[in-house]
Amino acid sequence: MSLVDRYDTALFDLDGVIYLGPAAVPAAPGALAALRATDTRIGFVTNNASRHPDVVAEHLQDLGITASADDVITSAQAMARLLADRIVPGSPVLVLGAPYLREELVAQAQIVPVASAQDAPVAVVQGLSPDMTWADLCDATAAIHAGATWYATNTDSTRPTDQGNLPGCGAAVNAIRIAVPHDPIVAGKPFPPLMRETLRRLDARHPIFVGDRTDTDIAGANAVGIDSMLVFSGAHGPADLWIADADHRPTHLGLDVADLLRPVREVRLDTTTAECGTQRISVDTDGYHHHGVVSDEQSWADAHWALAKLHWRLVDGGARVPDPGATGLPDRPVRQEAA
Ligand SMILES: [Mg+2]
Repeated sequence: MSLVDRYDTALFDLDGVIYLGPAAVPAAPGALAALRATDTRIGFVTNNASRHPDVVAEHLQDLGITASADDVITSAQAMARLLADRIVPGSPVLVLGAPYLREELVAQAQIVPVASAQDAPVAVVQGLSPDMTWADLCDATAAIHAGATWYATNTDSTRPTDQGNLPGCGAAVNAIRIAVPHDPIVAGKPFPPLMRETLRRLDARHPIFVGDRTDTDIAGANAVGIDSMLVFSGAHGPADLWIADADHRPTHLGLDVADLLRPVREVRLDTTTAECGTQRISVDTDGYHHHGVVSDEQSWADAHWALAKLHWRLVDGGARVPDPGATGLPDRPVRQEAA
């Protein structure tokens, strides 16, 4: 039985899980095709409120992944739901964001977009807005000072691109936050609205969320009480796993999305040892010790999962804990491509 057999729906973060900038994560197209052959429902969940689901689906298809717009859930859709629940149709709203965000809010929440704080907007909605000027930022801040409720599609401070990390929506949110005394209401991960919108749209009863960041993806899954798998194909690696607080810890660990199709990585844990597959970690007054031979990527991940589980147990017990980074685990083995 594979991990995904425990769930009716598999939800995926995109960058670092399905693709890395312009290119697919190598395992993703094959794994998604294998999942499509089962009756697992699939959803792609993105904090990005500037790309229409059609555009995201086309990008996935270009990478060899079957996807339609209905499989894509965006923070713009979650924002529209938030506004529809909170403001009356026809309300004036100042939107700092891409055309797609504005269109979604008009269509689904019947807002009336306005041009400035002079138009007395009841809300300011902030999304990634590449053409935004400093004057726009100041105007939005003035509207919030005048009483508009402040919303943001997401708080990702950077966004990965093929030119390196560039400032994300969260960077502009932070610029306003410096001048106002409270935080915005946020739609995207790790906040619940986007996750709830996803579960609602896909009618998911027992989903698993697959992500590459503990602070957004895994925290977001935990915030709505669903299981998760952290994958080591994107932003976060073993050190991020060790330091995760309880609400940032995944249910499962994988190398990449293909691990959904493998047996569950189980850890046998007692007070001073943790075992996973052929790998064992023990702890004594000298620190953590690794027993076993890391022969491939899978056994490497097994060793790190055992170490994380043992470390979390000690941290949660209030004990003084050794440095997991001093365990002496080898670097990640280079993948042997199948012949
Ligand atoms: Mg990601």
